[in-house]
Amino acid sequence: MVNYHNHTNLCGHASGTMEDYVSSAINKSLQEFGFSDHAPVPLHLRDGISMNPEETESYINEAVRLKELYRDKIAVRVGFEVDYPIFDTFDNRYFFDERIDFVIGSVHYIKDWGFDNPDNIERFNERPIDDIYSDYYSVLESLVESNLVDIIGHFDLIKKFGHRANGDFTSRITTIAKKMAEKGIVAEINTSGLYKPVKEIYPSKEIVDILFKENVPVTLGSDSHSPDEVCRGYDIAIAMLKAAGYRKVSGFMARKRYDLSLL
Ligand SMILES: [Zn+2]
Ligand SMILES: [Zn+2]
Repeated sequence: MVNYHNHTNLCGHASGTMEDYVSSAINKSLQEFGFSDHAPVPLHLRDGISMNPEETESYINEAVRLKELYRDKIAVRVGFEVDYPIFDTFDNRYFFDERIDFVIGSVHYIKDWGFDNPDNIERFNERPIDDIYSDYYSVLESLVESNLVDIIGHFDLIKKFGHRANGDFTSRITTIAKKMAEKGIVAEINTSGLYKPVKEIYPSKEIVDILFKENVPVTLGSDSHSPDEVCRGYDIAIAMLKAAGYRKVSGFMARKRYDLSLL
């Protein structure tokens, strides 16, 4: 099994060293473990959100060290979770750096609104919920169209606090899924939503069914922010993928995707 979404204490809101995470992953008998810590965000947003631009090299170097050290026990991969639109505090050369195995693209902001931050939750009341969902999926669609990333993180993060759309977004989601399939972009099945107010995996069962129908490849991640969170909720995620029809999950090396069987 694989786990491609894990943070480290570098971001300022997670605990555990990088080596602690690898030890936890080995204990859970994972085949592949990917670091995807938050790429540097602008200074005024950074405190407790991401590493500094000066820390990216030591982050990659430590991942490469662990990759070598534990190569007989687990395949360690290194990437970033980048925000879309991409902040210019993330050095673009990392998109072409051969040490980077994968890049997750995530939408955490609608314009200047960090909508998944509990401190900003009241802004959900400013506009009709369907307008907010529509804006979210517009940004997500642009992220797919940008062709910059390998994986779309937490596809329906906008539901995090339990706000549900009234309208039907099936056709919007199908359009995005078709574009992902065409470009070979992978959807992440992210278990962290189970432990948020929505208490549901990202994305929902309905969306996973659309992704399968449209031939979108998937991978798994627990969005761990402490070593004990590595792979939590995986039994539920694996059952959901199997029920949808999936038999394979994606792994990545040097930004090349490959299939592994969904055991
Ligand atoms: Zn985080
Ligand atoms: Zn995220």
